[in-house]
Amino acid sequence: MKPENNLEVFKKESLLYYQLDDKIVRCNTCSHNCTIRDGYWGFCETRKNEKGTLNVYNYGLVSSYSINPIEKKPLFHYYPGTTALTIGGFSCNFKCPWCQNWSISKTTPQKIRNPIFLSPNEIKQRILKEGQVKGISVSFNEPTISLEYVLDIFNLLDSDYYKMFVTNGYMTKQALDVLIKSGLTGMSVTVKGDESIVQKYCKADITKVWENITYANSRNIHVEIICLIIPSVNDTFDFYLDTANRLIDIDKNIPLHFTRFFPDYRFTHVSPTPINSLENAHTTAKERGINYVYLGNIPGHPLENTYCHQCHSLLIKRTGYQSAYSMDIEQGRCSTCGEKIPILF
Ligand code: SF4
Ligand code: SF4
Repeated sequence: MKPENNLEVFKKESLLYYQLDDKIVRCNTCSHNCTIRDGYWGFCETRKNEKGTLNVYNYGLVSSYSINPIEKKPLFHYYPGTTALTIGGFSCNFKCPWCQNWSISKTTPQKIRNPIFLSPNEIKQRILKEGQVKGISVSFNEPTISLEYVLDIFNLLDSDYYKMFVTNGYMTKQALDVLIKSGLTGMSVTVKGDESIVQKYCKADITKVWENITYANSRNIHVEIICLIIPSVNDTFDFYLDTANRLIDIDKNIPLHFTRFFPDYRFTHVSPTPINSLENAHTTAKERGINYVYLGNIPGHPLENTYCHQCHSLLIKRTGYQSAYSMDIEQGRCSTCGEKIPILF
């Protein structure tokens, strides 16, 4: 039996692709834009060319399902204190050797023994059942490669719910446009390094990610940037400065998170990020002019908190990614100096 025969329930025609000559297709879901010959899979191994039709084999394929604080994404300026239903799938379009979710991101649909199908309507019913849930977050592996499934979920949910992507930001502009049209409201985007780092380790082009950050921000999608700082990879002044410079050109109010790496997957030989490396990154970005810079994966560190960019008063106190915190913001303004704070409530 061919492995994909077990996956018929997860099969659907891909939304964004073109037919080229001789049953060859080009996928337009993410910026790899794979050219795929008949009988072959694309780079992410979720999409297969079958006689000139590009089919996905991950529609409704769910690896994980949980309810988490929005701060865990991490999103600090987006409806703080609320919870989101979070779902993930399998596989990825990046090859990061440090991946902290490698058990699902490095598993392709063909390799799954007991796949779980959840229809978009079942997801909606679970959200309705959990009365306190404010929205949905698609996370853990790369959500772009589940585009068709995510769009159907988004289209079922009314506009009271937020619709989030925790993403490497490598979707095509066309994919981003259909997501926005279907109600995408926010993105937590990981920036993993400069051009050479991302090409070397992730097999991708970081300029496409920055283009999407710029475009999403221009379309009023809430964006926060996450940089996992990994010793011997991207723990350099040049990377901190380059990231801050690019962000300044887009919007200095976009929150920037530098998070601590812990050994995982093929990077078990690398030590956890020294805290002073993260503090150096923070200093560099603040001195360059980014208003809201955070450190992550260091529970209890004072730079997890939000301080007013104008008077530096403590506005939101956090403990890790939990939603236990105090707030000193009244009607979106700093209680001390009255400055407008760019946080959605
Ligand atoms: S989603 Fe990206 S990696 Fe996957 S087949 Fe399409 S272009 Fe290739
Ligand atoms: S993009 Fe994220 S999920 Fe994909 S391999 Fe890299 S770290 Fe893992």
